Amino acid sequence: MTSGIRFDGVSVAYGGNTVLDSLDLTVEPGEVMALLGPSGSGKTTALRAVAGFVQPAAGRVFIGGRDVTALPPHRRGIGMVVQQYALFPHMRVEDNVAFGLKAQKVAKGEIPARVGEALAMTGMAAYAKRYPRELSGGQQQRVAIARALAIRPGVLLLDEPLSALDAQLRSGMLVELARLHRELPDVSILYVTHDQVEALTLADRIAVMDRARLQDCGTPQELYRRPRTEFTASFVGNANLLPVTVRAGGVSFAGTELAVSDTDGAADGATATLCVRPHLVGLGEGPNALRGRITEVQWRGSTHRLLVDVGGHDLKADVRELRETPALGDEVTLHFAADDAVLLSADVTAGAPSRATGAAEAPSSTAGAMAGVSDG
Ligand code: ADP
Repeated sequence: MTSGIRFDGVSVAYGGNTVLDSLDLTVEPGEVMALLGPSGSGKTTALRAVAGFVQPAAGRVFIGGRDVTALPPHRRGIGMVVQQYALFPHMRVEDNVAFGLKAQKVAKGEIPARVGEALAMTGMAAYAKRYPRELSGGQQQRVAIARALAIRPGVLLLDEPLSALDAQLRSGMLVELARLHRELPDVSILYVTHDQVEALTLADRIAVMDRARLQDCGTPQELYRRPRTEFTASFVGNANLLPVTVRAGGVSFAGTELAVSDTDGAADGATATLCVRPHLVGLGEGPNALRGRITEVQWRGSTHRLLVDVGGHDLKADVRELRETPALGDEVTLHFAADDAVLLSADVTAGAPSRATGAAEAPSSTAGAMAGVSDG
């Protein structure tokens, strides 16, 4: 089954309320695309439009280049896994996994081998005779994944598949999902999550959703290093968002002139927002020095999070290897490199993102989580 998903101007409305607004997005064959956004932003609705469980009010959905907008769910060649496992409680594991194969009228003699193959892929071969109630949450979710894979789908839809698991199981399952994807390099995966760590860890690209609209789309590195909007900057990783005024060759913030490497054509005197990641803010003298007073110190194991009041704005700095812990009220100097500051102009922040609809570059596998993305 060929894979790849394309949303072409897809809108969905419930009772006149648009919950997905003109989505244009392409998931390349073999690519993992995370749909990341807060609750209610339209992520699950987008996924259900691919599955065929909701009918778009406008636009078309393509799978493997074929327009499936009018096809019923069982004819779309998709596997789907949702948060609550949704296994049949009265069926043994093997019968749960065989269910989709029977529905697809796969030849009877072929079914045991296909069930065995899917259970082996998820490490559940030894549990074929058990009932769901005899399994842990993580094991049940593995069975649900096996059931989705048994039909050898071109497209795998995962809707918050880890959110019912505790933190330790979740990180184990993340590793498992990354391995599964390596074993199934042709399957396109659409992964709905509100958890940025899951998105950064698993996805080749992330589509950032907010209020029914696609806000931004790019590789995890692109969105983290060069966010285009304030929403992306604060939702993907941690950010200082400083209100600034654009000046020739830089910006002014709280009465201090700062150098930034790219003002992106913003007009002199325009107001904008400067994004600086907390782990790129250093303590002590350096370029773009800012004086302020410490209002909070949090010890976080490998770093100290300092909150520093600079001209009435709280700046976050995540500092490693502090020789002595600064005290509340101490006056300190912070600094950051011009290259580490990204100017989000008012236009870009308010306007329709142009990059969001762009076609994919060759998907690259991004396994590593990035420094400083998980803390709040
Ligand atoms: P997300 O997955 O990002 O949390 P959803 O796509 O589930 O968001 O929901 C988007 C919006 O659509 C929400 O405001 C939700 O309440 C609404 N919605 C979802 N499903 C239905 C439905 N069947 N009927 C009415 N409103 C719905």
